Amino acid sequence: MEHVAITSRDPFRFSAVVGEDRTELFAVHAAQEVLERLRGRSVINVSSTAAGGGVAEMLHVLLGLIRGIGLDTRWLVIDGNPEFFEVTKRLHNHLYGTAGDGGDLGEAEHLIYDDTLQPERDALAAHAREGDIVVLHDPQTAGLAALAKQLGCKVVWRCHVGIDEQNDHSRTGWEFLRPYLEPFVDHYVFSDRRFPPDWVSPDRLSVIWPSIDPFAPKNQNLDDATVEAILTHVGLIAGTPGDTVFERDDGSPGRVELMCDIVRTGPPPGPDVPLVVQISRWDSMKDMAGVMQAFAEYVDSGRTAQLVLAGPVVTAVADDPEGGQVLQECWNLWRQLPHAVRARVQLACLPMHDLEENAVIVNALQRHAHVVTQKSLAEGFGLTAAEAMLKGTPVVASAVGGLIDQVIDGESGLLVQDPTDLEEFGAAVCRILDDDDLRRRLGEGARARAIDTHLGDTHLRRWLGVVRALYDD
Ligand code: UDP
Repeated sequence: MEHVAITSRDPFRFSAVVGEDRTELFAVHAAQEVLERLRGRSVINVSSTAAGGGVAEMLHVLLGLIRGIGLDTRWLVIDGNPEFFEVTKRLHNHLYGTAGDGGDLGEAEHLIYDDTLQPERDALAAHAREGDIVVLHDPQTAGLAALAKQLGCKVVWRCHVGIDEQNDHSRTGWEFLRPYLEPFVDHYVFSDRRFPPDWVSPDRLSVIWPSIDPFAPKNQNLDDATVEAILTHVGLIAGTPGDTVFERDDGSPGRVELMCDIVRTGPPPGPDVPLVVQISRWDSMKDMAGVMQAFAEYVDSGRTAQLVLAGPVVTAVADDPEGGQVLQECWNLWRQLPHAVRARVQLACLPMHDLEENAVIVNALQRHAHVVTQKSLAEGFGLTAAEAMLKGTPVVASAVGGLIDQVIDGESGLLVQDPTDLEEFGAAVCRILDDDDLRRRLGEGARARAIDTHLGDTHLRRWLGVVRALYDD
């Protein structure tokens, strides 16, 4: 297991965004109660990756804040292998209601899953003590619940994925996981009340939305010149070069040095060209190909707007074996577009060597975009929507999973009812591109909504409920 370093974050900094009263609610009152109930015990988080994707993004922020309120928390990342991640990606896709790669989830897959997690159990035993809270994230770590329970820990399983209505695939996924969870888990945390299977009892369940940090490189304020300089440096637009400086998590200055791998014909667009942007892992559920098709068929004509599909360099996300294939499919589709459309579409792989540089590139892209889309076919939460919203950038999102909870249709973005309907999606994007007033109004609504519901202080206050349920003594 890898031990991930956590940078402590000052909770009182939040008052600049949410005001002093709201900051006190979590940084003083909630913090005090949590510290009293935990009495020196630790909170140990286990996930399958520390880079790429919403869970890693959220943990960097949340655990920093937990450290900031004076609680000991750690973050361990399991060592998987390609066979294991093939099984867990299949499981992940099943929980999203699809067959994934079409393979089985039977005895052979249980064996691969158990064998891979066996050495991880020893590693966990070296860190966890009786009475600690062990928070296991997502299907990849569910197999550690039995050991955590045996060590005398309070076991929480936090699930970030799911679908709005269970189907045969999701039921198969849940049956695979059930024996690892049901006998051992003290409390479940899901991102959406529609996701849990029926064997999760409501009195052991909390629904908690993930959150973002307004001061992290992903979301911190960047002025227009810095945004332009960063996007110009990485090759996504042809603007004015300049300083690409940002503030790192530890407060020191950083500078964007790395560049993106970009597939495009011709030169980059100028800084005034409106961009429609989707930033996601290269995952079939994110439907990057659908965004490209919708743009080509329903958005491109007669408009100057261009499309940027951006995701991480595929080799960097160890627990996601599907990335290379999805990116390849996007490249193939891009090659088949008529030349005039192809010239308006860029596919970009963002560097992952330095995660804070990656984050600030995402930040600049979300700020520069006219419209950020999240055309997911299913979505656990969709941090990319919250991130764009905080920056006042309007979002067009599918009405699925956590995106429904985030975006109030017509107030803080536009929801597309049928995630497979390219025409409806294209029309929503065009409505924003063609109407500056609407764009401004949705942008303002989006920022207000993000501050209201998607920030770390609200998230931590909701965890207080979990701590109360676990230590009601
Ligand atoms: N992300 C990133 N770099 C990339 C692509 C995505 O940092 O090249 C981040 C994105 O900004 C967001 C997270 O990965 O913070 C994706 O989280 P989301 O909840 O949208 O989806 P998930 O990947 O968890 O399914």
